[in-house]
Amino acid sequence: MARFYVLLGPPGAGKGTQAKVIAEKYGLVHISSGDLFRENLKNQTELGKLAQGFMTRGELVPDDVTIAMVRDRISRPDCKKGALLDGFPRTPAQADALSVMLKEFNSKVELVPLIDVPTQELIERLSGRWTCRAQGHVFHEKFNPPKKAGICDEDGSELYQREDDKKATVENRIKVYTEQTAPLIEYYSSRKILVKIDGTKSIGDVSKELLAAIEKA
Ligand code: ADP
Ligand code: ADP
Repeated sequence: MARFYVLLGPPGAGKGTQAKVIAEKYGLVHISSGDLFRENLKNQTELGKLAQGFMTRGELVPDDVTIAMVRDRISRPDCKKGALLDGFPRTPAQADALSVMLKEFNSKVELVPLIDVPTQELIERLSGRWTCRAQGHVFHEKFNPPKKAGICDEDGSELYQREDDKKATVENRIKVYTEQTAPLIEYYSSRKILVKIDGTKSIGDVSKELLAAIEKA
């Protein structure tokens, strides 16, 4: 059966960083809804134009649009063995929709690791984050610097600072997370598939804890 995992956690918790590690280790596709939106933005598609304002303000893109985009991605043949979802679902309505679409593939969410990091640390992480233009690899100027400033270690593409990583927008994104996404902790916890991971440790130690949780599931 296909294996689907959902990485949950506030903006800056380390979801993207860890998703790359886990996806590579298990040969799973990494689906980041934020990356999908940014790709659409770059190509100025209708979807990108629609999402732009919400993203700049640090608000959620409406559920119907987001769900349709992820459904389209999950339906592709490369997801037959499963996928690691990063940044989706972000609302209970999205979580319900995910469960319905996975049922269509005779599958379900296997485990939801919650990467837990206190708010104070999130602001420092996001204000020093550098993102790769080509494939969304992430670095941090202090905590995980690239070998060469401004260049991605993995694919040599340019690194840039996201517009929505500015302090004012970050604060709004954290508020939006608390109000609209944090209810998913109870949602998945009541379904007995949530596992809490201490996200304040080093990147390597968080990976170890995550891999151990997946092995145990
Ligand atoms: P981060 O990883 O830093 O939390 P993302 O890259 O996941 O941020 O998301 C960037 C922006 O894209 C969000 O602030 C939101 O506007 C939009 N977005 C991403 N995923 C979703 C989603 N599942 N539902 C609604 N909006 C989303
Ligand atoms: P998310 O996808 O949850 O928004 P990212 O994976 O993009 O988070 O990480 C946010 C920032 O924090 C990046 O600059 C990343 O390099 C850095 N980071 C990720 N994990 C850690 C960690 N365990 N300790 C310190 N910094 C981290």
